[in-house]
Amino acid sequence: MDFLGWRDPKAPANAYLVLPRDGKVVGLAMRAAAPHLSQLKRSVCALCMTTHTAADVSLFAARRIGNAGKLGNTVGTYICADLACSLYLRGKRKPSTPSLKPTSTVDEDVARTVASLNKFVDEVLTDNA
Ligand SMILES: [Zn+2]
Repeated sequence: MDFLGWRDPKAPANAYLVLPRDGKVVGLAMRAAAPHLSQLKRSVCALCMTTHTAADVSLFAARRIGNAGKLGNTVGTYICADLACSLYLRGKRKPSTPSLKPTSTVDEDVARTVASLNKFVDEVLTDNA
């Protein structure tokens, strides 16, 4: 797994992400937006680029650190609703809608996913207040 992500089974809007970063482990608490009701539309996870039905991708928002966070400033991104990007990347879990087979290798996909995730975390760790 490239990172750990899970949703609180008792409060599914609460999601957590834990990833290795600079030799340390960073954890984020996020809020998931209400799921999309449309099964017709498709959405793409901003991290692993897996195409899902819109209901299987959620907008997750994390509060920024410092004063910006205290002011309610959040950073949002669209991620697989089950936060299982690592499994989709390796073909261990399949999206409910068939997606085009990427021409890149798994290693390339993983590297891109980790880079995207770190960019998101960079944003969260920026106090722009
Ligand atoms: Zn994903």
